[in-house]
Amino acid sequence: MTGLYIHIPFCRRKCPYCDFFSLAGSEERLPEYVLALGRHLELWAAAGTTRGPFATVFFGGGTPSLLKPEAVAALLETADRLFGLAPETEITLEANPGTLSWEKLRGYRSAGVNRLSLGIQSFQPRHLLFLGRIHGVGEIEESIGWARQAGFDNLGFDLMFGFHGQTVSDGRRDLERALAFAPEHLSLYGLTVEEKTPFGDRQQDGVPLTASEEEWAAMFLQADDFLGRHGFAHYEISNYARPNRECRHNQVYWRRLPYLGIGAGAHSFLDQGYGERWAAPPHLDHFFARLAASRNPSEKLEDFNRWEAMRETLYLGLRTAAGISETDFRARFGSGVGKAFPATIGRLSPHLHEREGRWRFSPEEWLIYDHLIRELF
Ligand code: SF4
Repeated sequence: MTGLYIHIPFCRRKCPYCDFFSLAGSEERLPEYVLALGRHLELWAAAGTTRGPFATVFFGGGTPSLLKPEAVAALLETADRLFGLAPETEITLEANPGTLSWEKLRGYRSAGVNRLSLGIQSFQPRHLLFLGRIHGVGEIEESIGWARQAGFDNLGFDLMFGFHGQTVSDGRRDLERALAFAPEHLSLYGLTVEEKTPFGDRQQDGVPLTASEEEWAAMFLQADDFLGRHGFAHYEISNYARPNRECRHNQVYWRRLPYLGIGAGAHSFLDQGYGERWAAPPHLDHFFARLAASRNPSEKLEDFNRWEAMRETLYLGLRTAAGISETDFRARFGSGVGKAFPATIGRLSPHLHEREGRWRFSPEEWLIYDHLIRELF
């Protein structure tokens, strides 16, 4: 299974907590950028490192819903011509309320997009304001209605939790509001404050921005319980899905399967040897300059050795409810997890066991995942 990631690093406005590579106020460069994306893919095809067809395509950002449907259609045609798209390819587009219309959504659907991931974040006006989002609750409701009318039967919502001023009952209300629209998928991200963002600066000035550890934990476990009782599987630390609606593209990342990334700042993973990570510069001018010189903008960042590949397999796999299969791990690396990491497994022993041939964490352990996984480094 091979994936394609297409990075659209443009946003209407920069959210104060965001440290992703995305630019506000540069939308006039989008047409030129879309042409460059096609060229980037051609250079990957010429390199011959990755075989198609693509089983998943993901337009991520940034705000991919700033793209015109014709641009999405053109990029999918290029991907199909150069690598092929599998008959059942999952094609996801991340969309932000406030940048959508019924016509646009209809256009995306006709272009072949079959999964929409809506950046809702919260259903409460004061929380949307706190998070600096461009949309209000009315735009969320409109977007969901338009998406369904346009024929999207695979809809995911992104929600945030764990920010200052949000109580555990606020978190619960957001989940209830979300379920009233019957999404197929939910991603729940806890707010983290990053350096060199407006939130980072405000935190330096002593402004409280995140919930307390207790509230954070209560919201995380509340979601696990509430969504579990409403038919959602908690299949990865931050992701929930109705049966058979897991995001296939993200599973490419967690299972260390190959994917190509196109666009400024996009990462790729090639399955040569124990794996290679590549990245294109997170800078528009550098990205364009490399293409102008007919160079693939992506360069190799990391060439994994066996030990690094085993470690990454473990920490990515432990993010998922499926965990890591002892048999698959042994087939890939010639040794089981316990034998490969005796000291780590010893230190993690109250938490990490092999159960029914798989190594995995429970949701309570996911709550302290960052702490536990430090044992691997
Ligand atoms: S819309 Fe998303 S990518 Fe754009 S600034 Fe906000 S959080 Fe960042």
